Amino acid sequence: MALLELKNINKSYKVNENQIFQALKEINVSFEKGELVSIIGESGSGKSTMMNLIGGLDSKFEGELLVEGKNIGSFSEKQLDAYRKDKIGFVFQNCNLIPHLSILENVTIALTLSNVGKEERIERAKHALAQVGLEKHMNKKPNQLSGGQRQRVAIARALINEPEIILADEPTGALDSETTEQVLNIIKEIAGRGKLVIMVTHSEKVAAYSSRVIQILDGQIIKDQRNTEVEVVSEVSHESIQENMEKATNSSSAKKAEFTSETLSLETQTASTVKQNLSFFSAIKLAANNMKQKLKRNILVALGVSIGIMSVVMMLALGNGIKAYFSNMIESFMNPLVVEVSMPQGEVDPNDPMASMQAVIGSKPTFKEENLKELAALDGVVRVEEGFQYIAIAGTNSVSYGDKKSELMGIVSATSVLTESNIAEGKLPEEGEILVNKSSFEDLGEDIIGKTVTLNAVIEGKNVTGEFVVSGVYTAGENNTMADVNNSIYMHYEDMAKLLEEQGATLAPNMAYLVTEDESVASQLKETIVDMGYGGSTQEVMGDQMMTMLDILTLVLAGIAGISLVVSSIMILVVLYISVVERTKEIGLLRAIGARSKDVKRIFVSEAFLIGICSGTLGITIAYVISIFVNKVSVEIFDVQLMNITIPYVVAGVIISTVVSMIAGLFPANKAAQLDPVDSLRTE
Ligand code: ADP
Ligand code: MG
Repeated sequence: MALLELKNINKSYKVNENQIFQALKEINVSFEKGELVSIIGESGSGKSTMMNLIGGLDSKFEGELLVEGKNIGSFSEKQLDAYRKDKIGFVFQNCNLIPHLSILENVTIALTLSNVGKEERIERAKHALAQVGLEKHMNKKPNQLSGGQRQRVAIARALINEPEIILADEPTGALDSETTEQVLNIIKEIAGRGKLVIMVTHSEKVAAYSSRVIQILDGQIIKDQRNTEVEVVSEVSHESIQENMEKATNSSSAKKAEFTSETLSLETQTASTVKQNLSFFSAIKLAANNMKQKLKRNILVALGVSIGIMSVVMMLALGNGIKAYFSNMIESFMNPLVVEVSMPQGEVDPNDPMASMQAVIGSKPTFKEENLKELAALDGVVRVEEGFQYIAIAGTNSVSYGDKKSELMGIVSATSVLTESNIAEGKLPEEGEILVNKSSFEDLGEDIIGKTVTLNAVIEGKNVTGEFVVSGVYTAGENNTMADVNNSIYMHYEDMAKLLEEQGATLAPNMAYLVTEDESVASQLKETIVDMGYGGSTQEVMGDQMMTMLDILTLVLAGIAGISLVVSSIMILVVLYISVVERTKEIGLLRAIGARSKDVKRIFVSEAFLIGICSGTLGITIAYVISIFVNKVSVEIFDVQLMNITIPYVVAGVIISTVVSMIAGLFPANKAAQLDPVDSLRTE
């Protein structure tokens, strides 16, 4: 059985919608091991087309193309990839070395794609390079070699997987006569080792080196001639190879490799190596290497993406910080044993924070006897204190001392909610006394504690007035600047009721305070009263509304920042797309030496992955550095750290940026994977 047999092969190209061009017509030819075949013919006669068919780069043809009896026309994509990788070695006219890889890496790229270990890769590359006399140049880049040397590297690359068929499409077309001879000698040697070498050439002189010359004209074989002067090895045995090699070594230049029995044993050894696919790690390494070539461009892209990630993270961290600040403010300095209860707000949409907030301010619904009884009967409630609090209309409420006056925003009943921790100076108020907050304290003068002040207020629509002794100064803790700047006083419910009574009216409580003996009971009660339909602590309700608003605000800001992420992902897409276009030829080459389209895709997705990881890390780092400055300023001004970058943000930031990049990279990666190998190789 012939190693390779073409039976009735027809190949036509579609030129346009209604025109096809037949490049190969009824080709019938077969090839044996050890043959060195030259294909000659005018340009455009169909030589490359035939090579591409034999090489499994193009499987769209009619007829049968049998390799060891198997028709590759019926191969699946996967089988074709494996066929190219294992059975075929390609050598192109213009070498097609990947410029940014070293000679060693260029030669081993097919092994990398097969996931062969590093040591074995280097070992096999050394031998392949030795065969072309270039083992000393392993670490150079292609542009550091001469044209002939480059072509020899390309031959070494074709030999690395020990293929049975070497296809060389005008391998000497770009070489001068001296280097042509070097390259031809090597090619002859390879055929001498029992390989089938098919070489396309223009030159009759080159053809003279071969054991068989096939001439093609307009897609048809017009001559098939065996050259008896050239020795052909048909039976391959150890001895004959050895002999042949010695002959080759003696007859060629000093640069020529030496073939030893060691080489041969290595061949048999590597032939049995399990072939696998491109590993994730190798893909990343290839991608990293690619990216190094366009370092500035990639840094700029990463910077762009990192700005997107940075803004999203900063907005979220800022929201987080502000929320922490307010919740700290609300919860601090409230007696944990007391549960504040308010009457239900009536027809207020709980999803409308503004409406709920307004309902909290001003006059609130009051408790009825049965409400208070019901609350007092709850488990764990020691007693129920009545309370009243309201936010005043500007200008209607004030406390004054001599010519000093403090306009009040809030009047709040002093209940067990207040503890010693709420006293900045002085003491808690008794009946007939009031507690003033910091800003009112400043309005009234520093020596006001113990002095009698006059209160003028409008409670439940009645003008009331009375004299009270200032017992002390209220504080809600260091973080609660709001309670310190909004003028307010705290006085006993009984005193408020008395003031109203003087005007012939009765005060009903709008707040109830459930005093307990246990914090866990208290927190349980907070849920119970909400379940019963009551409102919770005014401060807590306000706090919840504020939290909701802050959440919305944070999300809106993060969303706006997210737009920059979208923009930057488009940037990745464009850059990778350009990269695919730039590297079309390289992709074609990778496919020719056996890379599956999946592998090509993986390399590009890996690039996107790397951009994503780098930009995520960069973005978080920038955000973190900015947060240090923001916090420094905010601590000075508000006494609080406003930007709170937590570990989950760091992790999420990197993950999001990676995922976004990879999604953006999918389109160019698919585009690269779908490139036709033949077309790609033809691009300039
Ligand atoms: P050569 O013998 O110079 O290597 P080719 O095999 O490259 O010739 O091309 C053979 C013929 O097929 C040429 O006439 C060429 O124009 C045509 N051809 C090659 N590729 C295509 C293609 N993709 N679409 C249309 N025609 C093509
Ligand atoms: Mg050609």
